[in-house]
Amino acid sequence: MGATIIDGRDFAAAVRGKVTGHVTRLASEQGIVPGLAVVLVGEDPASQVYVRSKGKATVEAGMKSVEHNLAADTSESELLALIDQLNNDSSIHGILVQLPLPEHLNEGLVVNAIDPAKDVDGFHISNVGLLGTGRKSMVPCTPLGCLMLLRNHHGSLSGLDAVVIGRSNIVGRPMVQLLIGDSCTVTVAHSRTRDLPEVVRRADVVVAAVGRPAMVQGDWLKPGATVIDVGINRVDAPERGVGKTRLVGDVDFERASRVAGAITPVPGGVGPMTIACLLANTLTACCRSNGVPEPEGLTA
Ligand code: NAD
Repeated sequence: MGATIIDGRDFAAAVRGKVTGHVTRLASEQGIVPGLAVVLVGEDPASQVYVRSKGKATVEAGMKSVEHNLAADTSESELLALIDQLNNDSSIHGILVQLPLPEHLNEGLVVNAIDPAKDVDGFHISNVGLLGTGRKSMVPCTPLGCLMLLRNHHGSLSGLDAVVIGRSNIVGRPMVQLLIGDSCTVTVAHSRTRDLPEVVRRADVVVAAVGRPAMVQGDWLKPGATVIDVGINRVDAPERGVGKTRLVGDVDFERASRVAGAITPVPGGVGPMTIACLLANTLTACCRSNGVPEPEGLTA
């Protein structure tokens, strides 16, 4: 029997609908409009696409969206001055600096200049520490999206064996913390892990965040496992025509879906959840800063 396909587009649409409903109520009942500022330095085409789609989604959710497009040679002090201005702007509840930054800018310094309460990416060292100690924090969007998909599929994750493949600060590490928070028994695998197939075979839940096309094989999986594929890899697709490409995940979807109990596709799995969770985080930050109750189910 084939795996259940976990439809991230559908679920992300439901999350965005919930955010929009709450934003509408906040505006009509309290006159509060959540605001998200996105800062882009330079002209990286992929980053421009991400920033545009974040802005569009923010407006669609009924929130205020502000975009700051800065020249590639913007100095660190100019960027820090803008962040300071946004930190002090009461109409802005979320600040996101699109990464990667040009090389002359110190990413750590810039990210840690954002007010942690407005750090909707959850990358500020205070939020990393809060998440790591099991306290209320701003949670990075992609792992938060994975957690929402897992909770929606399983209900409780308590006691499940989970393997996270990848230990990046953006996905792997916060994912580990979130799964611990939901009482999974968590193993972290990475590039130095010995016998990855054997480690993966123990898992009821596999989260793959590696960046290697179709690396996780179907016969590595425990039958019935839930597989969350975070990877986004562009590969050649000569079958679609000369020079054509397509996106694939870190998991060999076709074979894995014959063994897994449930699996996210790429595209259409985790990807759409990232923007949905950015909107959720902006709303959460706005509610916290205004001392109004946070909507349930939109954060860890
Ligand atoms: P990264 O390069 O920062 O980290 C990759 C991790 O994989 C590292 O910790 C490394 O130890 C591990 N790794 C590398 N080779 C390995 C191997 N052979 N076996 C086991 N582990 C190995 O990448 P990242 O930022 O965490 O992103 C991972 C993937 O997720 C990428 O494909 C990225 O495009 C994708 N991604 C998707 C979203 C989304 O919205 N869906 C968001 C962020 C990242």
